[in-house]
Amino acid sequence: MTKSSKKNKYSDIRRTLLKAMGYAPILSFPNIIRSKASTDVLIIGAGLSGLYAANLLEEEGYKVTVLEADKRVGGRVLTQKEIPGNPETGGTAFGSGYARVIDTANRFGINLIDLKPVIPYFRERTLSLGGEIIPKEEWPSHPRNVLPDEFRNLPPNAFFHTFLGSNNPLSAPQEWMNEDQFIHDISVHEWLNKKGFSDELVDLAYNLNISHGYSAKDVSVLMLMFVNAFAASQSRLGFQTSLVADGGNIRIAEEMANNLKHEVLLNKEVTSIDLSQDSAKVSCDDGTSFSADRIICSLPFSVLEGISIYPKIMGPQSQAIKSLKSQKINMLHLVPKKPFWESDGMSPNMYTDQLAGMILSQRQASSPEKVDSLTVWLRGPIAERLDRMDQNEAIASVIQSIEDLRPSAKGQLEVAAYHSWFLNPYSKGDWAYWAPGQIKEFGREISKPHHRLHFCGEHTAIANRGMEGALESGERAFFEILDLG
Ligand SMILES: Cc1cc2nc3c(=O)[nH]c(=O)nc-3n(C[C@H](O)[C@H](O)[C@H](O)COP(=O)(O)OP(=O)(O)OC[C@H]3O[C@@H](n4cnc5c(N)ncnc54)[C@H](O)[C@@H]3O)c2cc1C
Repeated sequence: MTKSSKKNKYSDIRRTLLKAMGYAPILSFPNIIRSKASTDVLIIGAGLSGLYAANLLEEEGYKVTVLEADKRVGGRVLTQKEIPGNPETGGTAFGSGYARVIDTANRFGINLIDLKPVIPYFRERTLSLGGEIIPKEEWPSHPRNVLPDEFRNLPPNAFFHTFLGSNNPLSAPQEWMNEDQFIHDISVHEWLNKKGFSDELVDLAYNLNISHGYSAKDVSVLMLMFVNAFAASQSRLGFQTSLVADGGNIRIAEEMANNLKHEVLLNKEVTSIDLSQDSAKVSCDDGTSFSADRIICSLPFSVLEGISIYPKIMGPQSQAIKSLKSQKINMLHLVPKKPFWESDGMSPNMYTDQLAGMILSQRQASSPEKVDSLTVWLRGPIAERLDRMDQNEAIASVIQSIEDLRPSAKGQLEVAAYHSWFLNPYSKGDWAYWAPGQIKEFGREISKPHHRLHFCGEHTAIANRGMEGALESGERAFFEILDLG
């Protein structure tokens, strides 16, 4: 397929998605209302959400300044360009229904790689529980398999969303914020117990390599219903694949930053926001300060919590900033010296209950049998345990765990990169997760503007997840400012 026919294909997909979700299509950085005022807007954070809002506002004639604490743009999107295959340490892949992400990539001429040829390899994982490798054919009758009879063929990681999919009361992702759904704002643990499942099953099917929460007890099943409905809404469109940007997803952020009239100001860590005067003022840790008519803040609440805001945010929104949690997740990239999996005949991907966590191989869709590197996903309690160690010790412990499970890997793994998102002071974790009761308590409050301060960031998205959620939120903040005239 040529680049231009691909471009049309994805633009069409975007329109289809927006139509399916009942949204008015916004075609590439809209010119909906021609700018009336040259309002100054300060945007805090050059992740996807902040950069998207900045681009939309500039298109409408606003003067925009983006302040970024880090020495790079992209936030939780981070491509390891120096590692073969450009593996991602942050935002990894997106569905073909990620309309805004795809549209943005198209706009900047970024080619998208269709991962369809890789998907079967990605799903195939060597299972290891209690230090024992369990061959695929033995799993259905294995004593550790406590899944219900009709699901015993599924690997442990596939059960929860399969079961939730057939018991999800949400018919559209954004319904998780509807009051009549708040009866489901209970823990995943309680919900599974009510469905008749044992704690042993919860441990196997949810707590192992946990993707949302620290355990099934501290995350709301209503949030998982949203996650599940979002995935289903993508599949319903009929495009069951995953995409990555050629050269890495970071290119999407970099191109959005390059497109701005004013360069993103890097190394500007905002420490306080003063909204008490006629214009809003932010101060940075290097002693500089900036004023604007409006501010959009894209910081995850785990970071925002440490920033002083005057006048103070009160009520449920303040409660949200203090208590909305972020997923702990560490990523370790390893380059194999040789394809050691060929000597033991098992998939290089692994799903374990040890420090090795979950391992996924980085493959190129053009030659899916070729593995460039391995990415170890270390989540929840595993990440917390590793964060208590010195970095070298943490990396050595994970490699030791892989080698213990798989002697063929001994001496074959070269460390290429390691990142703890929780120890990163500008993210303090990954995606936000909602504890039982929090959606009801402050779900509708968290993104409400506070004086001249507006909010965006994936944690404020209500219809989309991850990277698309980040763009959705930037678009919402843009509209809030546009509506002010
Ligand atoms: C390991 C991992 C895997 C993921 N996989 C996927 C996936 O497959 N698909 C998907 O859709 N999504 C995925 N995501 C999620 C996705 O990457 C995020 O949802 C999205 O990038 C968040 O964008 P954001 O703009 O909301 O936040 P951020 O990217 O966190 O942006 C906030 C910005 O604010 C900056 N900042 C912080 N503090 C300050 C301060 N005091 N002053 C100024 N600036 C500050 C930060 O440096 C950052 O650049 C993944 C994330 C991770 C970490």
